[in-house]
Amino acid sequence: MIPVLMPVYARSEVAPVRGEGCYLYDAEGRRWLDFASGIAVNCLGHGHPHFTARVKAQVETLIHVSNLYASPQQEAVARRLVALTFADTVFFTNSGAEAIECAVKTCRRFHFAAGRAERYRILTFSNAFHGRTMTAIAATDQAKLRDGFEPLPDWFRVLPFDDLAAAEAAIDDSIGGILVEPVQGEGGVRPASPAFLQGLRRLCDAHGLLLILDEVQCGVGRTGTLFAHEQYGITPDIMAIAKGIGGGVPVGACLATERAAAGMTVGTHGSTYGGNPLAMAACEAVLDIVAEPAFLETVRARAARLRGELEQMIPNHPIFEGVRGLGLMLGLKLRTDSRAFVAHLRTHGLLTVAAADNVVRILPPLVIEEEHIREAVAKLSAAAADYRVPEAA
Ligand SMILES: *Cc1c(COP(=O)(O)O)cnc(C)c1O
Repeated sequence: MIPVLMPVYARSEVAPVRGEGCYLYDAEGRRWLDFASGIAVNCLGHGHPHFTARVKAQVETLIHVSNLYASPQQEAVARRLVALTFADTVFFTNSGAEAIECAVKTCRRFHFAAGRAERYRILTFSNAFHGRTMTAIAATDQAKLRDGFEPLPDWFRVLPFDDLAAAEAAIDDSIGGILVEPVQGEGGVRPASPAFLQGLRRLCDAHGLLLILDEVQCGVGRTGTLFAHEQYGITPDIMAIAKGIGGGVPVGACLATERAAAGMTVGTHGSTYGGNPLAMAACEAVLDIVAEPAFLETVRARAARLRGELEQMIPNHPIFEGVRGLGLMLGLKLRTDSRAFVAHLRTHGLLTVAAADNVVRILPPLVIEEEHIREAVAKLSAAAADYRVPEAA
């Protein structure tokens, strides 16, 4: 009999009912150190006083109104995002995939408005993850996302990641933009090289293409700067964000320059819930904290500490091959299947996320303290010591 929840997830035995700071608890009071953060969502941990108070006050004031009305709440958040970034304009969504959808539509309308509708394709990269909508799965070559959904639209051409020559060679008259994650998340926590991202920017400028960054996972302080691309010395024309920006309330956004958004006129896009006052209160609370330079400096210090401790631990356990990533978006590369080890880590009271390429994703709340780093590394070490690779793996 089919479960009441459509069985598209291999859900683990962990059933959290309460969160406090960096910990999750189940109904029996069992506790886990949460170094998954709802997959880079709970950037302020669980029950952060400022976040909770702001959201609670908004629930009591106004939760939702239609985008048919003026939105002082959206305007306030958009003004902050515009002031903090390359962008001139913002569209709010409910998720990362919808932010990508808006980014792709913005790119299409840009070329359409300029009389170049034939430039309908976008270059993307191997192992990319842009979400689960039909557009988003068309944008990747990951078979496990695409299987059973083909034929998919030919709107994307997928190229090897971090290979600038391949991107340059793929540009023809059908290409209108390039979509890339500065740090691939799902695909195995792979930061793009500076030469690659800077090269893509140059290619876009030289060929009249739009550079679209997917910072859904790596954005909002995760890598130690408000957005990851700041560390590459480039800016995009369009950027999709989500995950951390709502701190747990579902919200995403598509940010664009005035030039890139030239085709997004009345009637070209919309969303019923997108950017409702509850979501905007969550964004305000997150930005109040995460956009502060002193906070980001602390994130960088904690990230350096965590990475240093992981690097020290790695040689002690043959299962670990190395650590990669940027800031508090770290990937522990294993010499064996990461899914089974992530399950084993749960029995040690530590939550992480498996990624492709035998990588354990380490995505702690951005508010971790030194004690959480010590606890996580001790748990990783203990788990590696008593780990027995399953027969099948
Ligand atoms: C999670 C993610 C998405 C999709 O976000 P949803 O909110 O699940 O739709 C898109 N891009 C990247 C890089 C992501 O990590």
